[in-house]
Amino acid sequence: MIVCKFGGTSVASAEQIQKVANIVKSNPARKIVAVSAPGKRSSDDIKVTDLLIDLSNAALNNDDIEQKLQKVVTRYQAIADGLALDYAICDVISEDLRERLQGDKSNEELFIDNLKASGEDNNAKLIAAYFNSIDMPARYVSPKEGLVVNDLPERTFALPEAYSNLAPLKDTKEIIVFPGFFGYTKAGILRTFDRGGSDITGSILAAAVEAELYENFTDVDCVFSANPKVVNDPVEIKEITYREMRELSYAGFSVFHDEALMPVYKIGVPVNIKNTNNPSAPGTRIVPNRPATGRPVTGISADSGFSTLYVSKYLMNREVGFGRKLLQILEDENISYEHTPSGLDDISVIMRSNQLTVENEARILARVKNELSADDVQMRHGFSMIVIVGEGMRNNTGLAARAATAISKTGANIEMINQGSSEVSLVFGVLQEFENQILQALYGEFFAHVQA
Ligand code: ASP
Repeated sequence: MIVCKFGGTSVASAEQIQKVANIVKSNPARKIVAVSAPGKRSSDDIKVTDLLIDLSNAALNNDDIEQKLQKVVTRYQAIADGLALDYAICDVISEDLRERLQGDKSNEELFIDNLKASGEDNNAKLIAAYFNSIDMPARYVSPKEGLVVNDLPERTFALPEAYSNLAPLKDTKEIIVFPGFFGYTKAGILRTFDRGGSDITGSILAAAVEAELYENFTDVDCVFSANPKVVNDPVEIKEITYREMRELSYAGFSVFHDEALMPVYKIGVPVNIKNTNNPSAPGTRIVPNRPATGRPVTGISADSGFSTLYVSKYLMNREVGFGRKLLQILEDENISYEHTPSGLDDISVIMRSNQLTVENEARILARVKNELSADDVQMRHGFSMIVIVGEGMRNNTGLAARAATAISKTGANIEMINQGSSEVSLVFGVLQEFENQILQALYGEFFAHVQA
């Protein structure tokens, strides 16, 4: 059995949904289909999820909602029209939205989640109706039938029992159409995953039914070895391990949600990233292991928006519990970190800048200074992380030297180097303004002579 997930652009219009039907029909193993809400039809279009967020904010502010609600319904009307579906389905959608808008507003996050989720929920109902109308027996299945998630305040994740609850779906006769992006707590409260979270739903379903393959249909042919917006014509990745994909989860590799790897990784279901607009292209396979290619580096990713908390204290290495106390201060501010390169007497904690505010930054600096009696504490902003990843790097001598030389030729200073313990990744912290130049230089160093 294959579980496939179709992303926003794959289900953005009637024409796209017809392509989805053809893809599903062309392989009888494709029995479970997870869908996103209608996404963008062109670059200047607005995703239904964003229209729904706008609508729910208007409702929370007691602004007029009619026009905003109509915008959402119109998107479904256009789809129903193009698929020659009964118009009554749009009245049902409109009614459903009004009901959600009447919902409990005491917790704004949950109110917004409930509206956001309607994007995929109504799309799944509509797509199931379309499949049935063209003689593809299909059934809409709600996440209420087993996709249980945790309670607030932690970010949403599936509870272990979700997998056993959903396992019986493997015996389905009809095609199951399952809305992506959300689940229900044990108490029946709807919660959405992070943005792009339909990938996670597909992965949970694939793991639950122990699928032979999880196909993730999007609008690109494959994952590239570097961000094609920065590097000209980068090499396509045909096969990549879960671990490599995880390490590359920065910009340019966001075709697949990084949280979606875990469920399939645990039981070893391979993932195939494919293009709805070009389904015969083989795409990129994400697998537990792959044969060595002779090329040490599989991909290079980069992201900006990092800050560094630099702390130095003489004899830090002798002080038991220093690291724990430092990280505790960040935990108290609900801040997660990415890397902690360190020396004998100093340590840097690298984190996403969007977690910092003027207030929490001042609190952190004061606490580190006073509670840890640090000699020097600084928070510095405006960094990019450049990550070089490859299973083949482990046995390759001189790779870091090659990377550092390539970076030095751009004139950039390397502010931080971190080699993951697994030795499949090498991270460089640099000033943001050098990011693109460095990505291009590293790509030239490791891929220039590779045939695309
Ligand atoms: N529709 C949601 C979003 O735009 C989830 C998804 O498409 O995966 O983020």
